[in-house]
Amino acid sequence: MTFKLPDLPYDYAALEPYIDAQTMQLHHDAHHDAYVKKLNEALAKENKTDTSDIIDLLQSMSKSTSASVRNNGGGHYNHSLFWKWMTPVGSSNPGPTGDLKSAIEARWGSVSEMQSKFNEAAAARFGSGWAWLGVRKDNGELDICSTANQDNPLMKGVVEVDMVPVLGLDVWEHAYYLKYQNRRAEYIQRWWNVVNWDTVVQFYDTYVSKGKPVPL
Ligand code: MN
Repeated sequence: MTFKLPDLPYDYAALEPYIDAQTMQLHHDAHHDAYVKKLNEALAKENKTDTSDIIDLLQSMSKSTSASVRNNGGGHYNHSLFWKWMTPVGSSNPGPTGDLKSAIEARWGSVSEMQSKFNEAAAARFGSGWAWLGVRKDNGELDICSTANQDNPLMKGVVEVDMVPVLGLDVWEHAYYLKYQNRRAEYIQRWWNVVNWDTVVQFYDTYVSKGKPVPL
């Protein structure tokens, strides 16, 4: 088995009342676990068990990559990041700092304007997918986009954007349905309360200084 389910960096209930414990438990222990298992099965079936770097796997995806490797590889990576990008209220800076804050203000005028654009992208994603804040590889600027299913902006061979994500939001119904039912906009709005801005800043600074995404 190549890839392993990472531990959640906090308790299931740590993000209450914004994200409930039952959702976190199912999301991590059932959904993320299934992506990891199915990814390993798909790689074994395709004789690719020497694959060990998930970022390389995503960046090298092409139209000929199997749906099972694309969906489950993306699912494993996206969720591994998602857990890191959240934290209990009060345990990180409440907003972006340093160079990331300056870059957001240069691009959108204010952090709240960036959040509005991000919320729009998250709300507008039809069906299942993710919203992203990231650094474009073509011009080094921050941008916002959304992707379908478990695609990630690093999958330049199969998605429209070529971007290194520094923050992402899961808008699959499994991420919010138990608590918010069909109210995706409310989930998006309240999720900002648990964003781990210290980690987002670290993702931004690492990519800007090293030219590579933070390794998992
Ligand atoms: Mn999910």
